[in-house]
Amino acid sequence: PVYLDYNATTPVDPRVLEAMLPWFTEHFGNAASRTHLYGWTAEEAVATARKQVAKLLRANLKEVVFTSGATEANNLAIKGVFEKYSYKGTHIITLATEHKAVLDTCHHIEQLGGEVTYLMPDANGLITPKQVTDALRPDTILVSVMYANNEIGVIQPIREIAAVAHAGGALFHTDATQAVGKLPIDMVEEGIDLLSLSAHKLYGPKGIGALVVRQGVEITAQMDGGGHERGRRSGTLNVPGIVGLGKACELAQKEMSAETQRLGLLRDRLEKGILANISHTFVNGNTPQRLAHLTNICFEYVDGENLLLSLKDIAVSTGSACTSASVLPSYVLKILGLTDNQAYASLRFSLGRFSTEEEIDFALQHVVEVVERMRVGSAV
Ligand code: PLP
Repeated sequence: PVYLDYNATTPVDPRVLEAMLPWFTEHFGNAASRTHLYGWTAEEAVATARKQVAKLLRANLKEVVFTSGATEANNLAIKGVFEKYSYKGTHIITLATEHKAVLDTCHHIEQLGGEVTYLMPDANGLITPKQVTDALRPDTILVSVMYANNEIGVIQPIREIAAVAHAGGALFHTDATQAVGKLPIDMVEEGIDLLSLSAHKLYGPKGIGALVVRQGVEITAQMDGGGHERGRRSGTLNVPGIVGLGKACELAQKEMSAETQRLGLLRDRLEKGILANISHTFVNGNTPQRLAHLTNICFEYVDGENLLLSLKDIAVSTGSACTSASVLPSYVLKILGLTDNQAYASLRFSLGRFSTEEEIDFALQHVVEVVERMRVGSAV
């Protein structure tokens, strides 16, 4: 099937794989071994990757904390800030349409006695800085708002939200998993204190990511041990993974703008084609403020639960892959105001580096045929 689920995960770019390979076998040293060449060599490779990650976000290399991915980075950011700053206050503000890695971490904070405000977005999935201002309290220590939504791709006004968070005396964290390598990000300009990212969303390997923590911001480690990563995350470093993440960031930096342009055209071709050829369809998160490689479309008057099963020749998703073990309709789409069936009957098409025009045309034709077939006999 044609792969149109790049938001769930991306293949490793062959150039990334090539950069990683020697670090499994030839250069297998422990980056924490300070007494011999094996260790120094690995440490140097990690330092290079740290620079590559930092450069993409305009951060400092000392600010990069390698983790097992964005789930861990979100846990470390939110729990780490909560634990460190609970003497100041225990209130956190976030968004109801965050990824579960943020929402469930916030629920954990509530179990620990913290208080969390979940802001409701508008019908397109966006929140305003004013909503954040109104929710801020003297005991608010953290505002955590995702950069771009994984299901609908809408991009929040990050710079403005960070500014109001700071004005209210709170730190600002963003889960930028779906934005890193897709949008230019400048942590300094945008006022981001903590940022989570994951390699497998930008053509790097699975199981590696980072939390970038601006200088002066403190977090309590959630993984105690040998004191790696300046005491912020213990555990022997995943050197091949880190090298892969670094290479992926370097490639993204060079290719992002051309790639965004190319994928934007392909996405528009698919989206316009669907809207023009299939009646009773609409885009979820219908705002120009969204990722260029993604469209989430609702097909009304089809049985949502059968739609995905009928689309055998393309790999797309409903809801988020991370919760696909459950058959519940997407909570993100429900928050936008969709009914259960509209949410089930919504498909996320996410394109990527290896998507071609032929694939898009094939996908369009397939979707048109399947939806027409499913609607035969219905009143539409
Ligand atoms: N946050 C967002 C917005 C995501 O899309 C994902 C990926 O599913 C995650 C967090 C989790 O990332 P990871 O798979 O690296 O734990």
